[in-house]
Amino acid sequence: MQKHTISTSDSLFQRAQELLPGGVNSPVRAFKAVGGHPIFMKSAKGAYLTDEDNNRYVDMINSWGPMILGHAPDFIEEAIREALPNSFSFGAPTRREVEMAELIIDMVPSVEKVRMVNSGTEATMSAIRVARGFTGRDKIIKFEGCYHGHGDSFLISAGSGAITLGVPDSPGVTKGVAQDTITVAFNDLEAVKTAVDLAKNQVAAIIIEPVVGNMGLVPPAEGFLQGLRDLCTKEGIVLIFDEVMTGFRLSRGGAQELFGVMPDMTTMGKIIGGGMPVGAYGGRREIMDFVAPAGPVYQAGTLSGNPIAMAAGLAMLRHLNENAATLYPELNRISDKMVNGMKANLQELGLNYTINQVGSMFSIFFTPQPVTDFTSAKTSDLTLFGKYFNSMLQKGIYLAPSQYETLFVSTAISDAVADEYLAANRAALAEIHH
Ligand code: PLP
Repeated sequence: MQKHTISTSDSLFQRAQELLPGGVNSPVRAFKAVGGHPIFMKSAKGAYLTDEDNNRYVDMINSWGPMILGHAPDFIEEAIREALPNSFSFGAPTRREVEMAELIIDMVPSVEKVRMVNSGTEATMSAIRVARGFTGRDKIIKFEGCYHGHGDSFLISAGSGAITLGVPDSPGVTKGVAQDTITVAFNDLEAVKTAVDLAKNQVAAIIIEPVVGNMGLVPPAEGFLQGLRDLCTKEGIVLIFDEVMTGFRLSRGGAQELFGVMPDMTTMGKIIGGGMPVGAYGGRREIMDFVAPAGPVYQAGTLSGNPIAMAAGLAMLRHLNENAATLYPELNRISDKMVNGMKANLQELGLNYTINQVGSMFSIFFTPQPVTDFTSAKTSDLTLFGKYFNSMLQKGIYLAPSQYETLFVSTAISDAVADEYLAANRAALAEIHH
């Protein structure tokens, strides 16, 4: 396979490094963990990205999750165009915000009231403030390797870019804040119970990615989510499912619908904006009524519920809602095909690595061990991952540039694209073991 020319990306990155910290606006975009420079993208449609040097890639990141239908579906573009002439921001309530709230509450089983924000980070930061206000308690429990955005309270044993760069505990987070975040191993219910006992009547919330996408893909063990639900109910703790990745992806109603476990609050992002900067948090009515101006917990936003973002998000959610019966089974079918094909490739090559999958999220770990938590995720051979990433890139497949990320399948990935991916996967696996 001919090596891509990426000279335009290289020169842009050189300029960017002078202007932006690390040359990027979000650390996960850098290729620090895999070597080389980030590729600068110019356009994207459906399953494919095109870079500044006109190379084409099958996109397995899909903007880190939002583009579940592939890039720039015509009907979302149309919805944005339709909204544009009416101005781009009012700072006053609009019809679309009401329609958006109705749709979210209809789709996400545990949500009775919702507040729109501009990112997943805002959603999680706000949700724990509300949980603290509601319970009158200060501490939160999070799980090692879970990422909930870059709010101070969450940058303790954080996954995703934080662990990729080796800074799971960020400088700049004060000791005072860190003291109120208790971390526990994912899938270890006994450890959660012990932590709750040690901080009796002090824990406001347990926040969790019900399926973790930020240490690679790690599913919840049988009964783990229900165990948390029961514990939270017993102890008066607010259970928060961070469904920023899983919401509207693992099913119409997210992970809570898939596993049949209802949290008290849910945080959302990514897909909810159809590619625009949108987040939301919602939950039981009595909790959400603590949010200002209904209640005393302050949270606000100049651009929250932005009309263009709402137009894109509404178009996306309406489409998912109306087509759920066929769309999710088909998305899962193509994802299964990719994962089963990868497993067959491994077997044919005599390799023993772990692949984790839930629906349209999956990742390969270069370890024979089962990966069930952060400790086991870290047994993956990162050097091998780096080689695999670069080999796939050369073959026109754009993966997340870190072991500690999940891949996201879009409905734009046809059988033919999946075959292209699998052929590259087989060749890359063979190449890196040569
Ligand atoms: N929560 C989870 C589970 C995430 O994966 C992310 C981002 O990847 C966030 C929160 C933060 O969202 P944002 O990057 O939109 O602030």
